[in-house]
Amino acid sequence: MEKFGRYPRYYIETMGCQMNVYDSEVLAGHLENLGYQEARALEDADVYILNTCAVRKKAEEKVYSRLGKLKSLKDRKKEMLMILWGCLSQQEQAAQGIKRRFPFLDIIGGTHSLGRFPELLEKADSSKNTILDLEEGAERENLPIKRGHPFKAWLPISFGCNNFCTYCVVPFVRGPEQSRPSNIILQEAETLARSGYKEITLLGQNVNSYGKDLDEDIDFAKLLARLDPIPGLAMIRFMTSHPRDFSQTLISVIQRGENICEHIPLPLQAGSNRILEKMNRGYTKEAYTELVQAIRNEIPGVSITTDLIVGFPGESEKDFQDTLNLVNTLRFDAAFTFIYSTRKGTKAAAMEGQIDPEIKKKRIMILNERQNRISLETNQRLIDTRQTVLVEGTSKTDPQMFTGRTRTNKLVHFPAKKDVLGKIIEVKIMEAGAWSLKGAYTQTISHCL
Ligand code: SAH
Ligand code: SF4
Repeated sequence: MEKFGRYPRYYIETMGCQMNVYDSEVLAGHLENLGYQEARALEDADVYILNTCAVRKKAEEKVYSRLGKLKSLKDRKKEMLMILWGCLSQQEQAAQGIKRRFPFLDIIGGTHSLGRFPELLEKADSSKNTILDLEEGAERENLPIKRGHPFKAWLPISFGCNNFCTYCVVPFVRGPEQSRPSNIILQEAETLARSGYKEITLLGQNVNSYGKDLDEDIDFAKLLARLDPIPGLAMIRFMTSHPRDFSQTLISVIQRGENICEHIPLPLQAGSNRILEKMNRGYTKEAYTELVQAIRNEIPGVSITTDLIVGFPGESEKDFQDTLNLVNTLRFDAAFTFIYSTRKGTKAAAMEGQIDPEIKKKRIMILNERQNRISLETNQRLIDTRQTVLVEGTSKTDPQMFTGRTRTNKLVHFPAKKDVLGKIIEVKIMEAGAWSLKGAYTQTISHCL
């Protein structure tokens, strides 16, 4: 398709989590199918998409500030189609407000509308008004995709979430949990492996409740066990696993698996039983601790990372200390820490005892300081060990400096004389920081190539 005497171009900006990154790859796939090409810069685009996140207020504010700036671009380039997509758009009230405040938007599409994107684009071409599409029920399978990476791929195994943790907006914007049939996932993984992909990351809000809604004899452990032998897939990762649904069988499958990576993202959220209950997480700190111990006993060298929220409504100094104590005892490899953010429509938003922002800030600083020290110490223990790494990129400033990730999902920077990009190699760890490691290339592991 030629428009303006050349191929039309698109530019997508993605905020938020890996599921959004995947959705943006599908949007790009649709556009390429329609004859669009990727633009190098936003100003060169004929179609611009902002794929939004709504999980915390900060993400939402970033969207509004971006929209403010886009207005002047639209004034200059009236023919550019501007599209707001994703989790923030999916919230009816937010979407209506955005439509009123930013009438220059051509389409506001929610997470459920992915399968309808081509129709929406066609409608927008001939309409002067903003098209709002938040309906559920569009097709999610057999959609085109333009993957952002040549040897690492995202592979969703389920969409949505049924957990309704009281602070979280995800079940509202992504809908109920829907597992994808296992044969579709296996076929997709095989196709990826045949096309040279070496790493897949299975995505789901709660991967280990996978399959509960399906009419087949499947669960996450079985799915992993079937993916493990696919030739060519050297690294199989997943995110995120919910502590409540983590079975003993799953631990054994990860332990036995040849290509299943020894990294377990296991969000704790809080170390106080009182707060965990108010969050509706469905486990106690004792049960969580036992799970961590069982995982560490069975999977040598495993890394466990977590998510933590400070300042949940009613969190007392004692509750916060409980979190700090658990962080001290469990010694996570890394933690993503968040300040509790009120999300409209969630149960926690209506709870009493909202915490003063200054206290929240103080708590997160103390927590980060503590965790950074633990991450550093944990990483230092890797010095002089040899680690298998998939090389995923080079430094922007030095083409002989490479970066890769260990099976335990640690970022390693290392120099290499030959081109090792996309290869599975071995590095010796020389230095450690809290966030990354420095290594030396030792050898290419050829049997995986
Ligand atoms: N499904 C994943 C989490 C998705 S959201 C899981 O259950 O593990 C990613 C992280 O954002 C959560 O683990 C939580 O720590 C954080 N988060 C979610 N809602 C939040 C809120 N309202 N305020 C602060 N952090 C939040
Ligand atoms: Fe949100 Fe809880 Fe579902 Fe994770 S499990 S997406 S935190 S509701």
